[in-house]
Amino acid sequence: MYTKSIRELGLGLKNKEFSSVELTKHFLERIKKFNTLNALITTTEEQALKAASQADQKIAAGIQEDLTGIPILHKDIFCTNGVKTTCGSLMLDNFIAPYDATVVTKLKDAGAVCLGKTNMDEFAMGSSNENSYYGPVKNPWDTAYVPGGSSGGSAAAIAARLAPAATATDTGGSIRQPAAFCGITGIKPTYGLVSRFGMIAFASSLDQGGPMAANAADCAIMLQAMAGFDERDSTCVNRPKVDYVAELDKPIKGLRIGLPQEFFNDKLNPAIADLVHNAVKELEKLGATVKSISLPNGHLCIPAYYIIAPAECSSNLARYDGIRFGYRCKDPVDLEDMYKRTRSEGFGAEVKRRILIGTYVLSSGYYDAYYVKAQKIRTLIANDFIKALNEVDVIIGPTTPEVAFKIGAKNTDPIAMYLNDIYTSSVNLAGLPGLSLPIGFVNNLPVGMQIIGNYFAEAKILNVAHQLQQVTDWHTKVPAEFA
Ligand code: GLN
Repeated sequence: MYTKSIRELGLGLKNKEFSSVELTKHFLERIKKFNTLNALITTTEEQALKAASQADQKIAAGIQEDLTGIPILHKDIFCTNGVKTTCGSLMLDNFIAPYDATVVTKLKDAGAVCLGKTNMDEFAMGSSNENSYYGPVKNPWDTAYVPGGSSGGSAAAIAARLAPAATATDTGGSIRQPAAFCGITGIKPTYGLVSRFGMIAFASSLDQGGPMAANAADCAIMLQAMAGFDERDSTCVNRPKVDYVAELDKPIKGLRIGLPQEFFNDKLNPAIADLVHNAVKELEKLGATVKSISLPNGHLCIPAYYIIAPAECSSNLARYDGIRFGYRCKDPVDLEDMYKRTRSEGFGAEVKRRILIGTYVLSSGYYDAYYVKAQKIRTLIANDFIKALNEVDVIIGPTTPEVAFKIGAKNTDPIAMYLNDIYTSSVNLAGLPGLSLPIGFVNNLPVGMQIIGNYFAEAKILNVAHQLQQVTDWHTKVPAEFA
């Protein structure tokens, strides 16, 4: 059952080949069996079985939608009513969310069954999932390697087929980079498409929730349920609903693809470049045309991102003060000691580094030199994309410059770690949608290709990815140990 797509599982449920309770038990057993991956922080077995039996009743009554009775996982950044919600941090290790995030509510309403909460880099800061208070997640393709981050738990779980789909978030690449490292498909929607209510904030102007699954069609089904206006998120955009699933089968004849010349430089592993060119050739066979484009300010995305994201996080994380909720240090001697020790003990090293950088770049003497300048660069980067997307329908390139690296290889060198986001963070700075899908292997590790579209063009990029997945089979591969 674990190799089936959401659509196939839905058919199996409909035809009474198995019940949602059986399906849920099947995935819960896999989660237990493969717990050495450390992909989950919390398993919600009891709630899952209850939700599954409710789904079975609905199906028996002939009421079935695409996600009715389908098991999924939530990244532990989404608040789940009555369930521990940690954001990968000791700071929230004792936090039981008193409400559901909008994304959680929407997926519940669509009938999905939540199996548990996935491991992640602390407060979604990281590219390797080594920054979690709950320990590193392992890449199912080789457990000595990182799964990417910060949604590494969700990505590893999908790659090992511990669930057919999962939620994730992407502030600078955290859906696409782990999707690439784990050989699965993930889409970061346009900023404002998916509600951020109840999604623990890292950098509010960049954060966006989205789905991960084995393939683009399953991502479309998930996004269909997750997207939509929410008055509780002031940046959520009120637009007519789009049918992502209906668009999947459209032919892509005449599609105009742009390849950014700056993406294919000497920093990119040439074997990854070859695989991207092979995949683009497949799209050409389906009738797409290709041209070279330029994103001249793209190389500035890392310095701009690593000023803006820490600036916003230093403000967002001020709320963790030991007073209202979360961790509090033991036996404080006075209020100042309580603040100091709570925050020094409750946050990990990377989170503290970001808070320090953010506080620095926002301080009065440096605000103009760093923060304002980074915001100007952000506009230049967005304008490059807008210009290019006037001439092409989608922009295609690698998701990451390298394949997954070994656990421990980069965690003492923050700059090397940050360079993982070179092709992804510019997309967040511009607020555009981007998808990563598997296109082959280098050194036995998966390679991802990124498809970037115009604002709210999720249907288009899912369509292109789905069409490519109709003529390739990389998305069907399961690592041997988990097959
Ligand atoms: N790797 C990036 C960072 O560490 C992006 C993280 C994310 O998208 N949440 O900030």
